[in-house]
Amino acid sequence: MPNKRANGGQVLVLNCGSSSLKFALIDPRNGNASLSGLGDSLGHSVPSVSWKIDGEKHSAALPVGAKHTEVIEFVVTNILSGGGILRADVAAIGHRVVHGGEKFSHSVLINEQVISAIQDCVALAPLHNSAHLQGIEAATKAFPGLPQVAVFDTAFHQTMPRQAYIYALPYELYEEHGIRRYGMHGTSHRFVSERAADLLGKAKADVNIISAHLGNGASIAAIQAGKSVDTSMGLTPLEGLVMGTRCGDVDPGLLLHLGVRLDYCMKEINDLLNKKSGLLGISQLSNDCRALEQAATEGHQGAQLALEIFCYRLAKYIASYHGVLSHVDALVFTGGIGENSAFIRENVLNRLNGLGYRVDETRNLEMRFGAEGAIEPPSGTTTTPKVLVIPTNEEWVIARDAAQIIASGNSAASGQPAGGS
Ligand code: ADP
Repeated sequence: MPNKRANGGQVLVLNCGSSSLKFALIDPRNGNASLSGLGDSLGHSVPSVSWKIDGEKHSAALPVGAKHTEVIEFVVTNILSGGGILRADVAAIGHRVVHGGEKFSHSVLINEQVISAIQDCVALAPLHNSAHLQGIEAATKAFPGLPQVAVFDTAFHQTMPRQAYIYALPYELYEEHGIRRYGMHGTSHRFVSERAADLLGKAKADVNIISAHLGNGASIAAIQAGKSVDTSMGLTPLEGLVMGTRCGDVDPGLLLHLGVRLDYCMKEINDLLNKKSGLLGISQLSNDCRALEQAATEGHQGAQLALEIFCYRLAKYIASYHGVLSHVDALVFTGGIGENSAFIRENVLNRLNGLGYRVDETRNLEMRFGAEGAIEPPSGTTTTPKVLVIPTNEEWVIARDAAQIIASGNSAASGQPAGGS
């Protein structure tokens, strides 16, 4: 079997959730993953770990109540050495960190100061940031002395101007409690917008992109000259587009109505907005776009309505970002839905005919399942905006940032939080 691994210099990318831990061993030079896996149901009665190494799938049970530490120990003891990978092959660990607040506008080498800054952001993303801290602690034990880098979902959006990030609320809520719009999915928006510039044959500073990351969570970003200037998620990932189970934009008066008139408690409101809404809530069937497309073709009215609202809201955001950017060089679709659903892309683009958007049916069907390229009609129709499908690769960004930071001696590498920007 050909060995895809370059010896040494690989980055172990960790994405620690509250009850899960995704891991991957990535070559930062080309993004190849020689190993990827998932620790699941952590802290519960039947935790497990499953992984793919050199194309082969494996799984194992973990002890009852096992958490991030046990998964990382299992990775080191059973998977890495079992797969013939030496500890010395791992040059760094890259952690996905959901919330960096205003403290981080780029990735940083982790040290005590960074850990305490991530801790300070726990209030903004309690489940995620606490899990990341557990992951960092576990990785420090398993790989003593190995450099670890934090890559923040929020960092890319720290370039937003204040008109885009300040809510029309009493200003002291921002000053005293950091209540503002932060945005998420920054690593993905950054990756696809840079890739779009490559595909357009231009420097990232010379292109304006609208990037739509459509997965279970979904967000859209307006990127001017390589910098995020607006995005649809806000203080939390609830704001913006219709998502799998999240509602996206609603009238904030709804919360009062639910609490005061309908007697919902905070936990019920949280569950309703985050877990029972979106595609699932509208369709009363599923949060899964593929399942809804199938049901819609079979005449399921809830599925039809959910997809219609999803596309309408997305088209509305895209149109509004034409007003945010000085001009638009390309619209990019990414994430599970953006990369695979020809139906959603066509529906959205047809709603945007007034802005010149057109879709080429054949190209649209070709650009699925990992394919990358344009889906607007071939040039000749010069007024048609470019529409690109670009598979995202957040793990590669994390591996690249980690490799660059440990190779360089810049301020990011010193582990200093960036300060507000
Ligand atoms: P996550 O945010 O959990 O990482 P993904 O980016 O994997 O999510 O996206 C999951 C979504 O992508 C689901 O709604 C799924 O139905 C959708 N999806 C995946 N493949 C297809 C497809 N071929 N057609 C339509 N939707 C798809």
